[in-house]
Amino acid sequence: MSATGSLRIGRELAEQMARHAVEDYPRECCGALLGREAADEPGAGAAREVLRVVPLANRQDSPRNRFLLAAEDVREAERFAREARCELLGWYHSHPDSPARPSEYDRENAWPWYSYVIVSVARGAPGEMASWRLADDRSAFLPEKIEASGADPHLPASIPR
Ligand SMILES: [Zn+2]
Repeated sequence: MSATGSLRIGRELAEQMARHAVEDYPRECCGALLGREAADEPGAGAAREVLRVVPLANRQDSPRNRFLLAAEDVREAERFAREARCELLGWYHSHPDSPARPSEYDRENAWPWYSYVIVSVARGAPGEMASWRLADDRSAFLPEKIEASGADPHLPASIPR
């Protein structure tokens, strides 16, 4: 399995995603990851840094075990990214009472390139957090290493909604 790079997430942003996941339990929550992508390191893929997470509405009919983004959510996330001078790096969602691994449904509905962070919630308490990227041929999700960082010195000012 080839390396897919890494995703750096500040502690406060990781906690923000975990809180969102717990608040929406037992439904799945979802949101966007904004940040920046550093130049490729040889053999290691691109390193990404998350600078902001944006909660979005889960529009799936059965939100207990699925999440689905509407085109308008994607446009909104892209607009937030532009306003924050960030890139739209990917998406996060929660897995209530299941592991932080992508489901078959996740794979079928995923786009290449984006990072997909999954937060596991076990009986209402936040659990494991993992990140994944879809293989270029869409056959599988590949794990993406999450690097936790302590502070968020680059956090942009808040974005008006
Ligand atoms: Zn999922």
